[in-house]
Amino acid sequence: MPDNDRLVKQVSPKSEDFSKWYLEVIRKTEMADYTPMKGMMVIRPYGYAIWEIIQRLLDARLKASGHVNAYFPLFIPESFLQKEMDHLQGFAPEVAWVTQGGNEELEERLAVRPTSEAIIGSLYSKWIKSWRDLPVLINQWANIVRWEKVTRPFLRTTEFLWQEGHTAHETFEQASEETLKILDLYAEFVRTELAVPVVTGKKTEWDKFAGALDTFAMEALMGDGKALQMGTSHNLGQHFSQVFNIRFEDRDQNLQFVWQTSWGVTTRLIGAIIMVHGDDSGLRLPPAVAPIQVVLVPISIGNWKQDVLPAAEKIRADLERAGIRVKLDDREEFTPGWKFADWEMRGVPLRLEVGPRDVKENKAVVVRRDMKKKESLPMSTLTETVPALLADIQKNLYGQASAFLKDNIRFVMDYEEFKATIEAKRGFLKAFWCGAQACENKIKEETAASIRVIPLETEPVAAAGRCIFCRQEARTLAYFARAY
Ligand SMILES: [Zn+2]
Repeated sequence: MPDNDRLVKQVSPKSEDFSKWYLEVIRKTEMADYTPMKGMMVIRPYGYAIWEIIQRLLDARLKASGHVNAYFPLFIPESFLQKEMDHLQGFAPEVAWVTQGGNEELEERLAVRPTSEAIIGSLYSKWIKSWRDLPVLINQWANIVRWEKVTRPFLRTTEFLWQEGHTAHETFEQASEETLKILDLYAEFVRTELAVPVVTGKKTEWDKFAGALDTFAMEALMGDGKALQMGTSHNLGQHFSQVFNIRFEDRDQNLQFVWQTSWGVTTRLIGAIIMVHGDDSGLRLPPAVAPIQVVLVPISIGNWKQDVLPAAEKIRADLERAGIRVKLDDREEFTPGWKFADWEMRGVPLRLEVGPRDVKENKAVVVRRDMKKKESLPMSTLTETVPALLADIQKNLYGQASAFLKDNIRFVMDYEEFKATIEAKRGFLKAFWCGAQACENKIKEETAASIRVIPLETEPVAAAGRCIFCRQEARTLAYFARAY
């Protein structure tokens, strides 16, 4: 008999309180949990399985584009961080320091890495001597610590997981090309595998990575109309190579500083999957990253262990052979109805039900999580119909998210309209902006919306307009939004 704790755990409706819904989904689906340390989360197996799939898929793309993995130390000497002042000042408020090793006080404090440019820069200065050593295209999968004041699981936590790429090149052009190539790779990855559409562009001067020449980012719109930064790619120029003395002999035998990039995506991507696709019943996972793509529930009536279970086991074996991640839920302590609701909340894309009558008719009932549509399909064709259905669900989730994004990008010319729209509808507001930080600050103060990115593509809308705030002539279009 199910105890109280194991009764169907419904989540509060998303439409009523998005923030409460988000936290409940994470806890009730067992993706993550809180720990005794404030701001530190534990990623539980169901959440971690998603991260493993993200890692595998992204790692394959990075390797296919010539990148290799390595691992660098967790600790960074304070003097290394001090070499690039912008970098140090940018990260100082969030750095956790180690001052003691065992019983001995350290001569120099060690930072727990908030990012690895400094430690990697010091090593590249040893490894790179000639243009023949370039490009260096190294990626690292690691954990990061940033002492955050306000935290939320997957979105902002004191410790999080990520990958960080650190590349070195002969020329500025090559580093620029790499920065944008990675931005495209990220956007394509997120669209294809996470079914999350993004807008991409450049960050403002004051919002860029500490120590970078330029920062590019991709941003997505969450179900509540707020934007989430999904990944960044930085053109570091020669800032780090100059302070870490990373020099190479070029093709004309002159000594030059290398041109660098760095880029990363984090476990925050899991938060985006939840907030983009989830509905009132809980998660809706895109099949490409779902740890369980198909859950198979035998209808436990009558002599089901003899009449139904063998057929269910055969379906599982067939689907597994077809490369599908499938789970057969043959637990006896729960009714089929309870299991349906539970797997629905956990966002499994496809549910198969097999009862005594289905077995007799050689059929299975198939239910899609994305639209709760039910149909009866011949058992013998499942190895073909199930992959096709999963592909269709992936496409449908992307289609729904794309329609939502499109409906929530609004071009505004007038500041009163800007204020009313951001208050009532949120979403991205595309507006002309003069380039002054003062204007953005004022807008932020009055509307809580900030510039997320400045799109790279040239807009056919108008070549120039007037700044949404100060009405001066402006040539830059920016995406504004309230953001996480
Ligand atoms: Zn202005």
